[in-house]
Amino acid sequence: MAETPGQKTVVVGAGPVGSLAALYAAQRGDDVEVYELRNDLRDPSTTPLNFTRSINLALSERGIHALKNSGSDALLDHVFDATIPMRGRMIHGRTPTGDLYEEAQDYDIHGRTIFAIDRAGLNSRLLDVLEQLPNVKLFFNHKLTGADFRKCKAWFEIQDGSSNKNDRAREVEIDFDFMIGADGAHSAVRHHLMKYARMDYKQEYIDTLWCEFRIEPKADVSPVDPVSKFVISPNHLHIWPGRVFMFIAIPSDDGSFTCTLFLPSAEFAHLETQPDQLLPEFFDRHFPGVTSHIAPKDLISQFTQNPHLPLISINCKPHHFQASAVIVGDAAHAMVPFYGQGMNAGLEDVRVLFSILDKHAIQETNQPDSEGSDNGSTAVASVAKRGLALAEYSALRVPDAFAINDLALQNYIEMRASVLSPSYRLRKYLEERLSVHVPWLGWQTKYARVSFGNERYSEVVEKSEFQGRVLLGGLVGAVGLPVLTGLIVLLRWRLAGARGSNVLGTQLRGLFGWVASIWR
Ligand code: FAD
Repeated sequence: MAETPGQKTVVVGAGPVGSLAALYAAQRGDDVEVYELRNDLRDPSTTPLNFTRSINLALSERGIHALKNSGSDALLDHVFDATIPMRGRMIHGRTPTGDLYEEAQDYDIHGRTIFAIDRAGLNSRLLDVLEQLPNVKLFFNHKLTGADFRKCKAWFEIQDGSSNKNDRAREVEIDFDFMIGADGAHSAVRHHLMKYARMDYKQEYIDTLWCEFRIEPKADVSPVDPVSKFVISPNHLHIWPGRVFMFIAIPSDDGSFTCTLFLPSAEFAHLETQPDQLLPEFFDRHFPGVTSHIAPKDLISQFTQNPHLPLISINCKPHHFQASAVIVGDAAHAMVPFYGQGMNAGLEDVRVLFSILDKHAIQETNQPDSEGSDNGSTAVASVAKRGLALAEYSALRVPDAFAINDLALQNYIEMRASVLSPSYRLRKYLEERLSVHVPWLGWQTKYARVSFGNERYSEVVEKSEFQGRVLLGGLVGAVGLPVLTGLIVLLRWRLAGARGSNVLGTQLRGLFGWVASIWR
């Protein structure tokens, strides 16, 4: 299924999405070069930056499916070695009488789980696999500074980390056949692509910042019980909902939890004025129980030392320019992290992109006149088919990127507030029962469709809206029908009462009059 053998594919960004894209391209026989701004993250001297620090992510079906399809059999085992299944949310709060409570809400009635994974660990494993391949070259400390997508040339600044300004920043020029931009939310590839493609672009910073915290593993661990190292359940994503903010905790392999505080910027600014006084009290009031897992002094030091970072949501279209470049992952659709889909969607981009490239490669090979054509015309044909494939990819993927971006924004409300609401629970309950007892209806919760399936995000939105309308109609019918029937019966009694009276009729007429007066 190799596309043009020897095609030079340049991947910019060696994050999880860029690394997987490089693997897919290498498996198809391309000469792959990966350029990464930072030092190799497997090098212990590498200072983690922003969220490329060792944060924990939720890996779900879309990401797993894309990893499975990479063609590297060892990769998935290698990745799964270090994951922890999370079967649901654990909601933490306080009862009206002031007691602490925990309430588990499973993600899926069929028992499917998502997986906590260390982002840097996943990334390192992908780089390990890439490094073994003869047709892949990795270039770290290379920053993309310019690109000409008509001439297929790019320029990189070599960041040697020197503090001497005179010997900094050497620049190299390279040629490429195909560039995949996986260089994250502030993508340089996207920036240069905009000069060539007529790209619509929208970015939005939500008024919420995030800060990372850590719950340490238990000190006294039983050697026979590996779970004993966790101070709270390891198989849940823990949420302390706070209506307009929230605190979450995701388990790590070593027994610790990576926690994230999401808070409006004004609240952050307020807490920053006097963290020593304000922070422990704020946590005790809004996130009950946390200060028994993170001592107040650690809470304060983590709050003051760890950065308070913004959350950006980016939509753009198209994602490609002619046959020369495409953007994937956060470069194409950075989203707020509340559906746990940013990386999963990026890994899925890679699977979808290469399935379309493969489809066009096969179609071209099947055309009779492609046999016997010389190298020049084969190369031209190959470029043409890649152009068609990229156009198809953009057309297919842009609506899905927009859809998951919106879902991620909406899910912030679900996580911090709706998880407590009776209507949310009722809908979840009804949809899950329908999926179990009437499986032929194909009914599933939105969460299950997003996290445990591979249908297009845009279709998930359509199906979920349809299910919502049907359920609402059903509920209105279920409640409205008996009320209507009761009114009709009363009306008939009233009419009958006009013809001849009895005691029951009189009483019912009275009742009807009372109901009618309330209705009016
Ligand atoms: P990145 O991870 O940003 O990698 C881009 C790479 O490109 C970096 O290595 C960078 O150094 C490099 N680069 C940048 N500029 C240049 C340049 N000019 N030249 C060369 N290289 C360059 N997603 C999930 O699926 N599940 C979750 O549970 C989840 N939780 C999250 C929680 C938080 C708090 C946040 C902030 C995000 C979360 N995400 C989650 C989103 C996820 O982290 C991102 O979607 C994912 O990391 C994107 O991967 P990427 O490879 O596209 O980009």
